[in-house]
Amino acid sequence: MQTTGAIARHEAQAFAELEEVLANNGISAPQALHLLTTALPVAAVSDPQDPLPPLLRALQTASDRLRQQQVGDTVTYVVNRNINFTNICEQHCGFCAFRRDATAADAYWLDIDRILGKVADAVAQGATEICMQGGLNPAAKEGSSTLRYYQSLVREIKTAFPGVHLHAFSPQEIQFIAREDGLSYAQVIDVLHQSGVDSMPGTAAEVLVDRVRSRICPEKINTATWLEIVETAHRLGVWTTSTMLCGHIETPADQVAHLQHLQRLQQKALERDYPARITEFILLPYVGELAPKAMRQWVGHLQPQLLPTLVLTAVARLFLGQWIVNHQPSWVKLGLGGATMALDWGCNDLGGTLMEEHITSAAGAQGGTGVSPANLVAAIRSLGRTPRQRTTLYALVGEPR
Ligand code: SF4
Repeated sequence: MQTTGAIARHEAQAFAELEEVLANNGISAPQALHLLTTALPVAAVSDPQDPLPPLLRALQTASDRLRQQQVGDTVTYVVNRNINFTNICEQHCGFCAFRRDATAADAYWLDIDRILGKVADAVAQGATEICMQGGLNPAAKEGSSTLRYYQSLVREIKTAFPGVHLHAFSPQEIQFIAREDGLSYAQVIDVLHQSGVDSMPGTAAEVLVDRVRSRICPEKINTATWLEIVETAHRLGVWTTSTMLCGHIETPADQVAHLQHLQRLQQKALERDYPARITEFILLPYVGELAPKAMRQWVGHLQPQLLPTLVLTAVARLFLGQWIVNHQPSWVKLGLGGATMALDWGCNDLGGTLMEEHITSAAGAQGGTGVSPANLVAAIRSLGRTPRQRTTLYALVGEPR
């Protein structure tokens, strides 16, 4: 329990940092670590329904004011459909309840007609984006080539729906294709981009600290490979998002190290004048309800802890500052209510309608598998902010609603 004097000192320091944030458009890594190490223990014992303790109120105010200063009061969303084309995966990530062995009764692998049917349905509902990712299925080949399978998938979709933005394949999937076919990451990304992939999700990042990765996803690409693939995408003109899987075994220092990697990637893209960069940062709190047992035991909670997630949301806004200005909470993981709260902690985007989310839902998330544009608009309006539909790359669509 902190004394009143200690809380007052923290609050004074947080407000001093707030002034610095607003003057400098962001905070340093040591400041981010200080904020996390002081605010997270307070958040862990506070009730989200109660008035915020002073330290958290200062943090929330700082992140909200920086958001307002950087991107104004508009809150964007994208009408999209998520398609997970197979749940067959050769890996066994500790948090993943989605993957199946090929022999499992509920393993699936959608054929192209099913996929095209889902795209057609999404486009009929006004989707501008298809977000497509899948398990790492060694049988997914055309002839002997994994790349040709992925290339055909992309071509079929873009031939039938040339206007749809295809946001597809994580850095882990790029490495899988490259490894299977003995190609470089650049060769894989270039072929997929030329075939119709417009941008890539910055997923599979989890926490970009190898000590953490070796415990929660030991078969996945390491930090250096994730960074190399995303930088290669930017160099080749493919925009990416960026993500962090938080709220499990990682420490505040790991969280800051992760954010530093993302900030550095963006700085590199700008310094080297790459034709593409990171569009947004998405915080993904861990959901463990139906996750494999070992990870549930390590973490000790089954659903995201709202206030600690909001604290990290705020610190991410303050630290990424001018480098990544679009911040998105996950309504799938926090529920639409929690994601709406995050709009007051530095976020300016509510993400996609998704229509069918499978990966987090399989882990027991309570946010649902899809949300209508009308519900996103109503959530944004409930805060007195202005909702705007956007494209994947943050161009505004249509008139304000
Ligand atoms: S998180 Fe992705 S790579 Fe890991 S087991 Fe699940 S589907 Fe496979």
